[in-house]
Amino acid sequence: MEYLFNKQVEPGEVIEVAEGVLWLTMPLPFELDHINLYLIRGENGWVVIDTGIGTSTTKSLWKCIFKQLDEPIVGVIVTHLHPDHVGLAGWIADKCDVPFYMTQTEYFTARAFAAGRNGATNERDVLYYRRVGLDESMITKLTSGEGNGYSSVVSPIPISYTRLKHGMTLSLGDNEWKVMVGRGHSPEHACLYNEKKNILISGDHILPIITPNIGAYSTEPDANTLADYLDTLPQFKSLPQNTTVLPAHKLPFIGLHERVDTLIAHHHEHLRALLDACEKPRTVVELLPVMFKRKLSSRNMVFAVAECLSHLNYLLNEGCISRTLNEEGVYIFKVCEASKLAS
Ligand SMILES: [Zn+2]
Repeated sequence: MEYLFNKQVEPGEVIEVAEGVLWLTMPLPFELDHINLYLIRGENGWVVIDTGIGTSTTKSLWKCIFKQLDEPIVGVIVTHLHPDHVGLAGWIADKCDVPFYMTQTEYFTARAFAAGRNGATNERDVLYYRRVGLDESMITKLTSGEGNGYSSVVSPIPISYTRLKHGMTLSLGDNEWKVMVGRGHSPEHACLYNEKKNILISGDHILPIITPNIGAYSTEPDANTLADYLDTLPQFKSLPQNTTVLPAHKLPFIGLHERVDTLIAHHHEHLRALLDACEKPRTVVELLPVMFKRKLSSRNMVFAVAECLSHLNYLLNEGCISRTLNEEGVYIFKVCEASKLAS
C-alpha cells in the first residue's frame, strides 16, 4: 500500500487531492482524534461529503473552510449515520438550503437514534450487557444515562432527504459518482466511486491501518453484521487496483485490493482465534482478550463487546459454535463437535 501524503491535512485547511476533489479534516474528542471530510465539485458549487461531529469547534472550522471556497455549498452527502459523519449535516444543509443525500436505512436509523428511547425502558440494554457477562457496576455505568448521547453531538437532521441507492450514478455537474453500498460497519453505508478520476470515497467501510468496527449492538443483539461486512467487501476488487482511496480516517492511499484482502483475512483470523478459545465454554467477556490485547475503557468496552458478539454471531450462524444461557442469564459459547470434525 502506498500513501499519497505523509501527514494529515491541518484542521481549517483544504488540500486538493484531484481536480475538483478537496480533502479536509475535523478534530474528534476520542482516541481516534480526527475525521477526513471531502468536498467534490458539483453544479455551480461544492458538495460536502460527511460533516464532522456536531460541536462548536467543528462549526467554527467549517466557517473558516466556507470562506476559502471559490463557490458556495450546493449539497451535503453523508456516508452513514455515525455522529462524526452526520454530526453537522443538518446544520450545513439547512443553513445553505441545499439537498441532503443519504441511503434510506442510514437516514431513518439516524432519525430514530436522534429521537432516543422515547419513553421505552432501558431493560433490553441491561439484558444485552448481562448476557455478554459484564458485571453489574459496569452495566449500570453503561445504561444509566438519561440523556441522548447521539443527539447531543448531532445537529437536528433535516426532515427530508434525497435517497442514495446502491448502483445508482449521482451526476454532480460534470462529475459522475457511482454509489456502492457497504454493510456491516453500519446498515447501508454509501461509498462513492468516480470512474474518470479513478477515486473511491470509502467512508468508514474501508480504512487503512485500522479496521472498521463491526458490531452487534443492543438494538439488534443477534445481528450477523460480520457476514454483511464480508459480503460487501469483495465488490471493491472490481475497481482498478490503482484506485485512489479517500477514507474517513487516516491517510488517502493506493492499494485497494490488498487492503480488502487484509481486512477479510483479519476477521478470519479473529474467527479462528475465537473458535480455538471456545474449546472450553466461554462468555463474551471472557473472549474479549482473544480479540483485544489492550485494557479497555468503558467507551471502548461498548465497541469491543459488540465486535466480539458480532464474530460469535457469525460462527453461530455458520453452525461452528453453540450458544446456551447459564443460570446467571449469561450466554455461554462452545465449539460444536460436528464442526471440529468438518474442519
Ligand atoms: Zn462509522
